[in-house]
Amino acid sequence: MSSTDHQLTEHHVSDVRTRILDWYADNGRDLPWRDPETTAWGVLVSEVMLQQTQVSRVWDSWLAWMKRWPGPADLAEAEASDVLIMWGRLGYPRRALRLHETAKAVVTEHNGVLPADPELLLQLPGIGEYTAAAVSSFAFGIPEVVIDTNIRRVHARIFSGKGAGAPNLTAAERKLAAQLMPDTSTAQGLQDANTWNVAAMELGALICTARAPKCDQCPVLNQCAWVAAGKPEPETKAKTQSWNGSDRQVRGAIMGVLRAKGAVDVGTLQTTVEATGQLGRHLPEVSQWDRAVNGLVTDGLAVLDDKILALP
Ligand code: SF4
Repeated sequence: MSSTDHQLTEHHVSDVRTRILDWYADNGRDLPWRDPETTAWGVLVSEVMLQQTQVSRVWDSWLAWMKRWPGPADLAEAEASDVLIMWGRLGYPRRALRLHETAKAVVTEHNGVLPADPELLLQLPGIGEYTAAAVSSFAFGIPEVVIDTNIRRVHARIFSGKGAGAPNLTAAERKLAAQLMPDTSTAQGLQDANTWNVAAMELGALICTARAPKCDQCPVLNQCAWVAAGKPEPETKAKTQSWNGSDRQVRGAIMGVLRAKGAVDVGTLQTTVEATGQLGRHLPEVSQWDRAVNGLVTDGLAVLDDKILALP
């Protein structure tokens, strides 16, 4: 039996769950994709947008996207260039292309209806384990065990006395997350299980944040093993990559020009991009320009034809 198992008395788990569920009932945000009227497709779009982008930046983009392309059939018919333009500055635009591919796959393979089964969701382009579980739980009420970075951190702190989840998801973390799920044999338990997923995630987003947890506002302050242990530093710290000067910054600035103009001559690309101010003081070397352009073309985010770089 691991040290984690020792801490998991049913009373302890139940107490923590109740406190977090009650906290969520009072403090959960009314995000547009949490509206009961939101379609399963809308939930999937939100999850893809939220994978690497903050809620505050996703909010308006999601509303505009859903207004333009309410369902998979609408998106499937869109041009890739329009999809990238609508994606705007959400970042990591390959997600937009994957979502576009997913819409087409839902139309051709599932008669335009997003499947509820996480195994089927996993087979769609760009949908990983987390997104499949989240969509099954949040959109379809299937009590999948949802595990994202926020949830792993919350679990690790409360039950394992560690400041963060492991660098990569471990079998022990999966086991802990499964053990924490409410018993779904009753209707109330089923409802609680799906709410538990989103409640733990919300606690991690609003209170138990990575860098500055607001423990004085936390509903499980007195139940938290990490606090009880004196908040020991995480064994491994998450690597943070500087944005300024990065290839991502240069790629993002080029994509900004392509979204605005549709196409640009590579001979004037550098001056055109620098004129936007998106690079700040960074002056990329020729090799970085080449790397950025080649990367965009390789990723299908742009096409290069006779020295004209354009949206696909
Ligand atoms: S007490 Fe602090 S560290 Fe523990 S779960 Fe709450 S916010 Fe996180």
